[in-house]
Amino acid sequence: MAQGRYANIIIDISHEKVDRPFQYKIPDSLAGMLEIGMCVTVPFGMGSRLRQGYVVEITDQVQYPADKLKEVHAIEKNGPFAEQDAVRLAAWMKSTYGATMIAALKTVLPVKKAMKPRQKKKILCLAGREELLSLLGEAQRKKQHAKERVLSQLVKEPELPYELLTKKLNVSPAALRSLEEQGVIRIEAESYYRNPVKIVSEREVRNCLSPEQAFIRDEILSEYEQGVRRTYLIRGITGSGKTEVYLALIEGVLARGKQCIMLIPEIALTYQTLLRFYKRFGDRVSVINSSLSAGERFDQCERARKGEIDVIIGPRSALFVPFERLGLIVMDEEHEGSYKSETMPRYHARETAEFLAGMKGASLVLGSATPSLEAYHKAKSGRYRLFTLDRRLTGGSLPEVHVVDLRRELKEGNRSIFSRRLQDLMEERLHREEQIILFLNRRGYAGFVSCRSCGYVMKCPHCDVSLSQHMGGKMVCHYCGYETVQPKKCPACASPYILGFKAGTQQIEEQLGRRFPGARVLRMDADVTRKKDSYEKILSSFFDREADILVGTQMIVKGHDFPGVTLVGILAADLSLNDSDYRCAERTFQLLTQAAGRAGRGERPGEVVIQTYRPDHYSIVRARAQDYEAFYEEEMAYRELAGYPPAAHMLAILIMAAQEREGGVTAQEIATCLKEDKELAVIGPSKASIGKINDIYRFVIYCKQESYGALVEAKDRIERFLASNPGRETNVQFDFDPIDRY
Ligand code: ADP
Ligand code: ZN
Ligand code: ZN
Repeated sequence: MAQGRYANIIIDISHEKVDRPFQYKIPDSLAGMLEIGMCVTVPFGMGSRLRQGYVVEITDQVQYPADKLKEVHAIEKNGPFAEQDAVRLAAWMKSTYGATMIAALKTVLPVKKAMKPRQKKKILCLAGREELLSLLGEAQRKKQHAKERVLSQLVKEPELPYELLTKKLNVSPAALRSLEEQGVIRIEAESYYRNPVKIVSEREVRNCLSPEQAFIRDEILSEYEQGVRRTYLIRGITGSGKTEVYLALIEGVLARGKQCIMLIPEIALTYQTLLRFYKRFGDRVSVINSSLSAGERFDQCERARKGEIDVIIGPRSALFVPFERLGLIVMDEEHEGSYKSETMPRYHARETAEFLAGMKGASLVLGSATPSLEAYHKAKSGRYRLFTLDRRLTGGSLPEVHVVDLRRELKEGNRSIFSRRLQDLMEERLHREEQIILFLNRRGYAGFVSCRSCGYVMKCPHCDVSLSQHMGGKMVCHYCGYETVQPKKCPACASPYILGFKAGTQQIEEQLGRRFPGARVLRMDADVTRKKDSYEKILSSFFDREADILVGTQMIVKGHDFPGVTLVGILAADLSLNDSDYRCAERTFQLLTQAAGRAGRGERPGEVVIQTYRPDHYSIVRARAQDYEAFYEEEMAYRELAGYPPAAHMLAILIMAAQEREGGVTAQEIATCLKEDKELAVIGPSKASIGKINDIYRFVIYCKQESYGALVEAKDRIERFLASNPGRETNVQFDFDPIDRY
């Protein structure tokens, strides 16, 4: 029980102006009864209307003349479960990442929204096994792929969630209705709340853990049994059986009466992965993802809080599902950039999971084929316990990797985007009817449009970025959606030679059409997948071998298993080395390793071609050899030399203003204020690399320091400075250990 005569309270009004704690006197009637995180009612404002608020601090230090303070009215019995835990977590976020308390609270508290009663449907199989198999054969012959997908799942499972089929396997409702009319299945509705995903299965075929897997499980669970709570890192190549270990650990922790959070990046939350969890844990597991409405999300939180589920699977926000008996957090693909929030508070799920695990007495297990430097550094220094798995369990051997020097290719007269080596191998694969993935390592999408006479580049009038060329002579801004037609003449010099710089996935698709006419090509990039569900659709169609070649960006290399793929071509491996932020080598290494991991997942061995202008760069050399350890040593030496995380810490301060001059002045003042601390390395202010987005000007300052605490102090100093100089029309945001450049 917290001691003190005064309570600092955050009022539950979403208005920036009241976004600070207000102090109240604790009346004798409530003395000793208030706790941090409690929801209370207090009189607020001129009319002293009763409002709800959260207690964030209890203190004896009075901030105003005590006789002017109002008193806490009452403890709110039915307030949303604020929950001490959530408030503690929010307070930690506020102090660690620099956000307002209300923003932090809103991040961690599930938003309560009125919910329409909803029903979830499921599919029950009515046909016997024999009949199913013959129907499956027929569907295969007739190339009815959607039907085939449903039937082959039904062979394994007599009962399937409707949503999982329509959303993840992309089966149309019409296809399901036709199966129902045939009497093969029955579609049943059941109340949603009770059970969003239910798979009744007693027939999960269990793998017997390999000795390496069993060792990890036994070590972690026996430490758990002894009351040891810590962070573990499993470094294991793709296909080495990490997920199987997670399942075993979760099982062990559930058997001890505890609950688990399983974090998976949204893009890797595929049907196959979910199914493995549903099969093992049945209706004790649920999933949270971005396609849930606020109501559905709230509902999952309610179920968790009431103890109706024990496992939640989801991306970073799944951390905020309130489990009373949290025992384990697992974080797969720990190195993924999507684990960091892009809005304030810019929290990192790994650090947040560590804090949460500490607070709840839970263990944390991180897993990755290519751990982040942060995690591996901690493992090497003994703060995390490290395990490694370096054998693929399904037999498939690691692919053979070729590196092609594009400079030589050009010197020898090949101007195509495909090297001769790659063309030969592709030819061979198409001939043998094996599948190919072509991966374009590019963070922008299509090419920019420029004048070949004067160099003028077409830019967005609202954002400081070049416009991207699209089919049909359109140019699009990927930041604000601005669209315009491509001019016939250069706006600067009137030359007709205004052309697109061809390097996007669309252009590759075009070139493929010319070089390999007849090959069936699928393309996946942010443009194609903006439409809902098209992502899964493309993947399942490629999986079903409805195409020979899949062309795409980053998103095709994440955790998908295509047994038919025996060749992966990486078209311009070093493009991501030009990102000019300190993480670009790490990102390149991770992408190349992951892309290479896509080849040869089936029976036939795979090959990988890495095309690059910088064949000697260590990230490419090490990715070719699949040597994580050597990469880590080199990269860590660089970070230490340059004082970058994890060798030191960094704070990015982003200053945004509608008036360029005002933004610049504020940035300058903040830099001056920062430089008062002589120990702090201050870089900037400068214009952000994208100096304007949506007509808002952006400036950035970077600070480097060995101690995180010193950076938090710097942030506090800026907040105090801004509070004492009110009335500016600037928005200042903080990003600790940023993962992207501003
Ligand atoms: P990762 O998560 O490291 O990519 P998975 O757990 O998905 O690895 O395992 C890769 C493949 O190996 C899967 O098809 C899985 O069913 C299989 N597998 C995992 N563990 C075993 C085991 N102990 N015995 C046989 N197969 C296994
Ligand atoms: Zn021109
Ligand atoms: Zn724009």
